[in-house]
Amino acid sequence: MTKTLELAKDLISRRSNTPDDAGCQEIMIRRLEPLGFRIERMRFGDVDNFYARRGNSGPLLVFAGHTDVVPTGPVEQWHTPPFEPTIKDGMLYGRGAADMKTSCAAFITAIEEFVEAHPDHPGSIGLLITSDEEGIAINGTVKVVEVLQARNELIDYCIVGEPTSNKVVGDMIKNGRRGSLSGKLVVKGVQGHIAYPHLVKNPIHMVAPAIKDMVETVWDNGNEYFPPTSWQISNMNGGTGATNVVPGEVEILFNFRFSTASTDQSLRERVHAILDKHALNYDLDWEYSPPYITPRGNLVEAISEAIQQAYGVTPELSTTGGTSDGRFIANICKQVIEFGPLNATIHKLNECVAVADIEPLKDTYRITLEKLLIA
Ligand SMILES: [Zn+2]
Repeated sequence: MTKTLELAKDLISRRSNTPDDAGCQEIMIRRLEPLGFRIERMRFGDVDNFYARRGNSGPLLVFAGHTDVVPTGPVEQWHTPPFEPTIKDGMLYGRGAADMKTSCAAFITAIEEFVEAHPDHPGSIGLLITSDEEGIAINGTVKVVEVLQARNELIDYCIVGEPTSNKVVGDMIKNGRRGSLSGKLVVKGVQGHIAYPHLVKNPIHMVAPAIKDMVETVWDNGNEYFPPTSWQISNMNGGTGATNVVPGEVEILFNFRFSTASTDQSLRERVHAILDKHALNYDLDWEYSPPYITPRGNLVEAISEAIQQAYGVTPELSTTGGTSDGRFIANICKQVIEFGPLNATIHKLNECVAVADIEPLKDTYRITLEKLLIA
């Protein structure tokens, strides 16, 4: 059993349901301390986080990730107990195997090998680990980044170990994520008896043409790194349940997944313009999470070459999928990418990674360190 596999199993055996870290971070810290890392434990609310750094000079390469996992779902439907890491037919099973305890283990063993080979390496290595990635993500990475930002500790390169691979490990790295802009729209009319239409204002009828306009709007055409911005309604609720009452209001929840070809500000303005054009009486509350993008540069190049060496696969750049902690790190780091195991089983029953894919993951992280700090 390799050191990475052993450590991954150790981490998977901890029941670290968000935000409970269940001791995972202390296991990692115990491995980093003897290597000369300075450790800062940062507990915010009920969330454990830590930041570790070895070295004082630049460039600073940080590995980022999370020790928390999503709920198992019905345990009786797992073929093996989710918190008893089990190897079967060449696969390592357990909750967090792919998302992302194997990556956390590979960070540690890659660093151990690198430091042993280059004890006096130039630059610095960091780790930023949270136990609140799968949850509401309020007391996790975002808070640690605020601490670093306040003391002007900028990161040159950041590798987030999220499971980004698609069909074979190494086929995809994420070099950005779309932004997310959600709106809660309440359109107001006048409630009344359905048999007296001259006495009501039907908010569902009034909003319908505005919805049509928004569906038909081309918000942007995307750009080199992003697909076009999309607008979708997730929920629409209006009506009292009675068949003879026109409701007084209708509530619509919608969301933009947007590219850097638009800004949240421009999208908000355009939505208001459409609603105002239809002379609607409405309230609209927004929630926003920014996009980030890392253009091709030395981090993308270094990790792509490392993947090629370790897995024999050339990765494609992608910005698909939901939001990630990369959006927070991008505030203090110009080059953030995400790379990790296959995402086929994440958040599912019987989550797993192939044992054969684990050592190359560690090698990928180590080779990237060598390319960016030594070469
Ligand atoms: Zn994850």
